[in-house]
Amino acid sequence: MNVRPQPRESIALMAGYHSLQIDVDVRLNTNESPEPPPAAFTAAVAAEVAAIDWHRYPHRDAASLRLRIGELHDVGPEQVFAANGSNEVLQTLLLTYGGPGRTAAMFEPTYALHSHLSRITGTDVAAGERRADFGLDLAEVERVVTESTPAITFLCSPNNPTGVVDALDDIRTALEVVTAAGGLLCVDEAYGQFAPHSAMSLLGDDVPLVVSRTYSKTWAMAAARLGYLIGPAWLVAELEKVVLPYHLDAMTQIAGRVALDHLDAMNERVAALVEERGRLCAAMDELPVDVWPSGANFVLFRPRDIDGREVWQQLTERSVLVRDCSSWPRLDGCLRVTVGATDEDDRFLAALREILT
Ligand SMILES: *Cc1c(COP(=O)(O)O)cnc(C)c1O
Repeated sequence: MNVRPQPRESIALMAGYHSLQIDVDVRLNTNESPEPPPAAFTAAVAAEVAAIDWHRYPHRDAASLRLRIGELHDVGPEQVFAANGSNEVLQTLLLTYGGPGRTAAMFEPTYALHSHLSRITGTDVAAGERRADFGLDLAEVERVVTESTPAITFLCSPNNPTGVVDALDDIRTALEVVTAAGGLLCVDEAYGQFAPHSAMSLLGDDVPLVVSRTYSKTWAMAAARLGYLIGPAWLVAELEKVVLPYHLDAMTQIAGRVALDHLDAMNERVAALVEERGRLCAAMDELPVDVWPSGANFVLFRPRDIDGREVWQQLTERSVLVRDCSSWPRLDGCLRVTVGATDEDDRFLAALREILT
């Protein structure tokens, strides 16, 4: 009998990243936008896609897309690195600055892909703890960075899955600690547009800071797979060496650029979701659940009297799907619900009320 080739041990032991895709009426488990982008966007993309030179490779440097993204953040295209979802941005960062013999630090609970991608790229993981209220603990940042001198330190603000926004002063202090240790700070702002402030204000050519964003959540474009980071030009040049040639296909480049012609519509959606988040949280406050304040398009909560897993099961039976975090470390019994359309949130609230009261 043949012996099957084995992957690296660290990969063989790994569970892989899964989020459930099952058929339900109300899908509030992956923080997508409840609405598609405006019809004018879809029409403009279709027209440009029809004119693609399909026999040619796409623009390798995605120059016009990067120019437009740069304009959005008042930086030049040389400070923009775009990739297939911000997950590919983070992976490229790890392939470039992490790897064997190097360490990446993160503060749990946080976005699972930060440690997952670190392991996949052979980067050692130094996991620090957040405070019990999930806020950033600066003494812990200092301890982890001093002890492990990570090549990359990740923060996530607003944090997934908690929704907690880190204070700008705390991010500034973390940046000073990381800088003193010769490392790089990556602030994942996948939900940045829903938050009151951004770490973008701390960027600078001699500052070892990158801020990543995605089109998937706020801009209702999860189907396109497009994310980017803003950082110093010298760092972006290193990332460009590592990423696969022509990794951003012509359609993705078009979709990303055309979306920026519809910024007002996108921003209106963000404002509407923030308002709906307020309504959802106020309604949840009336129920026997603990709710964490959120700066994102989702809300973390913990049923007080019954097991979170049981509530998840009963919600699913009522065709409402939320994210089950109840067995995740430090999130015992917690569930995470995405802010949806008003009628979807009403379905969720009615089901939750029925289960809990
Ligand atoms: C969803 C998410 C991402 C990844 O988004 P992409 O779809 O890969 O752009 C990155 N970071 C956080 C915190 C997220 O929640």
